[in-house]
Amino acid sequence: MPELITCPRCGAQWSGLSAAHCCAAGCGRVFSTVRLFDAHRHSRGEHGGCLDPATITNSRGERIMFHRAGAWRGPELTEEQKTAVFSRRIRGAKKDG
Ligand SMILES: [Zn+2]
Ligand SMILES: [Zn+2]
Repeated sequence: MPELITCPRCGAQWSGLSAAHCCAAGCGRVFSTVRLFDAHRHSRGEHGGCLDPATITNSRGERIMFHRAGAWRGPELTEEQKTAVFSRRIRGAKKDG
């Protein structure tokens, strides 16, 4: 059983010590990393605010987080992407052709 963490303020529950929970009113979202949580918060206005994670994109216009298993998480690499990264490394290391 993963250890379940409960927020004393709003009662939200999640597992994973590295996860970050946003306790803002009307939010309560859980993020798998602090980096994703930071990306979801903006500093406009007096107290800042929350962005809808589904609308947050990187400079290429790609979504940077997806809701899976109770938390917002970064995109998982597909098998093809993993293979592409791996074979690039192999080619880079081989110089004797
Ligand atoms: Zn909370
Ligand atoms: Zn929030």
